[in-house]
Amino acid sequence: MLIGCPKEIKPQEFRVGLTPAAAGEVIARGHSVIVETNAGIGAGFTDEDYAAIGATVLDTAEEVFAKADMIVKVKEPQAVERKMLREGQLLFTYLHLAPDPEQTKDLLDSGCTAIAYETVTDRSGGLPLLAPMSEVAGRLAPQVGSWTLQKANGGRGVLMGGVPGVGPAKVVVIGGGVVGTHAAKIAAGMGADVTVLDRSLPRLRYLDDVFGGTFKNQYSTAAATAELITTADMVIGAVLIPGAAAPKLISRDQLSTMKPGAVLVDVAIDQGGCFETSKATTHADPIYDVDGIMHYCVANMPGAVARTSTIALGNATMPFMLALAGKGWKQACADDEHLLNGLNVHAGKLTYAAVGEALGLDY
Ligand code: NAD
Repeated sequence: MLIGCPKEIKPQEFRVGLTPAAAGEVIARGHSVIVETNAGIGAGFTDEDYAAIGATVLDTAEEVFAKADMIVKVKEPQAVERKMLREGQLLFTYLHLAPDPEQTKDLLDSGCTAIAYETVTDRSGGLPLLAPMSEVAGRLAPQVGSWTLQKANGGRGVLMGGVPGVGPAKVVVIGGGVVGTHAAKIAAGMGADVTVLDRSLPRLRYLDDVFGGTFKNQYSTAAATAELITTADMVIGAVLIPGAAAPKLISRDQLSTMKPGAVLVDVAIDQGGCFETSKATTHADPIYDVDGIMHYCVANMPGAVARTSTIALGNATMPFMLALAGKGWKQACADDEHLLNGLNVHAGKLTYAAVGEALGLDY
């Protein structure tokens, strides 16, 4: 199979769909790879890196789309890219079709077969191609939060780990899933005093068993949150209710109960945010102040560490990509119900119920 990887064109997107290492794996299995020039540059991979493992570097996205049997990307295809997709071509990338009728229509019109990273599942009911980005965002949250806590950035001027004779920062993480667990691990590793809140008792039991000595956990109620935020230096929002907007867990009125210069990091901002005062920000202008409380609400946090994110995503997508290349999508999906769950569009038809329901289309 001829696998093509164009350069991402969505603003502020520096990741790339195929690392040189992943390209090397597919080439070793007898496939061919074409890459648009500078596709990997934002993640620190040069054209020479791709050429060195046997990939062919092409000058334009048009050539990549025209030649490839399978297009591997990161972000959903933009309008100009969608025009280049053709009948029978396989597209493997994040799609997020439910809130995007225009993209859905274009993909249906193109006749392509589109497999969405975000709906591929695993045996434990998780989403293996979303998890790496949650891991990245979770680990990044205390890092950006501690920067925001610095005085010059509007924060309280508190050092995460304190120093001998001075206590550490108090960090509250609301939501103990993938994002929250990774955030708590890093915050605790920086020396902070960390408490994780969750509504799932099995999850709290797991956190207690595995991290009992590293950070505390508590059942998430409005009362527990209200009490903990009064002494917190940093609150990290990491909740998810699948298929729903994030619940608002801290109101504007409650900000006045917090310490001036405390920091809210709302990782759940891509689902609308879990603090009433959250609004999406960008890496170029990531923080803002509401009533003396600093907010960090970047919706695409993994983009800040494009190289780590690219490699992490590539590690997760690679086995599926190898199966698609080796068997063709029909056989690969027939052999793996979890990959089949990723199939959103085929030959002008929607093949994913939730997208059809969200957009009022047949599926
Ligand atoms: P997850 O499903 O692994 O974890 C969510 C956790 O929230 C679960 O353990 C659940 O029990 C808990 N929860 C639900 N309601 C709660 C409540 N009221 N109080 C306390 N806990 C509650 O999800 P995840 O992968 O950790 O993702 C968390 C959020 O981060 C999602 O909204 C996701 O979209 C977002 N995210 C954002 C970025 C970004 O760049 N901003 C990147 C990755 C993920």
